[in-house]
This record gives sequence, structure tokens and C-alpha cells, in this order.
Amino acid sequence: MKCLYCRNPDTKVTDSRISDSYVRRRRECLQCNKRFTTYERTETDLMVIKKDNSKQLFDKNKILNGLTRACNKRLTEQEIQELANKIENKILNLNKVEIKSAQLGNLVMKELKKADPVAYVRFASVCKSFDNITHFEKEIKELGGIKK
Ligand SMILES: [Zn+2]
Repeated sequence: MKCLYCRNPDTKVTDSRISDSYVRRRRECLQCNKRFTTYERTETDLMVIKKDNSKQLFDKNKILNGLTRACNKRLTEQEIQELANKIENKILNLNKVEIKSAQLGNLVMKELKKADPVAYVRFASVCKSFDNITHFEKEIKELGGIKK
């Protein structure tokens, strides 16, 4: 982002606000010290709200990484890729601007459960959205135990 006044590319962000459809940033030019505001739209516009309430731009690669770990030796690379695409589409089709990381996790788990129950349990066991171990045990019971 170049300075509007002197075109210098080095600016610092002094404030960021996430609104419904864009990210509003106060920037200060490191050269002329003038300040200006930018309104940035991202391609997906989707922000993920983490447990500590910090926000992060939705990143499909994170889902892909999580799936790759959970599906190790269960699904092929291509199947994992397809699953990640499917999940991404579902998420983007929600037409949300923000999504809670727990909700995101649940969506991933729902799709994973259909694709591969063992990978699902693996993913679920590391996914923070499981509030407590009781919930997790219930999920395993529903699956009829882990079949290897
Ligand atoms: Zn400047």
C-alpha cells in the first residue's frame, strides 16, 4: 500500500477495524508522516474469529493442513484436496462475513465424518472446538467406536 501523498510504499497501520464488508485501516506514511485511511476488500472477505476473539482472514490452506494431518494414509492427496475445496465452498456459500473458529471446525468435522470416520475422530481429537472429553466420547460412541 503506497502513501497517497508521496507514493512511498512504507506505511504502518495504526488502527484496523473490521466492518461488514471490508477492513478499514488507518495508515501512517513512514516518510511524510501523513495519515490516510484504506478500505480493503479481500477476495473471500471472510474473517475467522478465534477463541481469544482475534480475527484472521480465512485461509483454505489451514484447513488443508489440518485435513492432511488427520487423513494421513486414509485418503489420497487428491481426495484431501477435493474435500478441502468442498469445505471451502460450503463455508463461502454461507455468505458470512465472519465465522467462529469453532463453527468452522464443526463444518470441517461434519464433512470429514462423511468422508472418513477414522480421520474424523483423529481430527476431532485435536480440534479445540470439542468443549470437553465427554462430548468427544459421545461422538466416538455414535460412530460405534474406532474401527481400524
Ligand atoms: Zn507519504
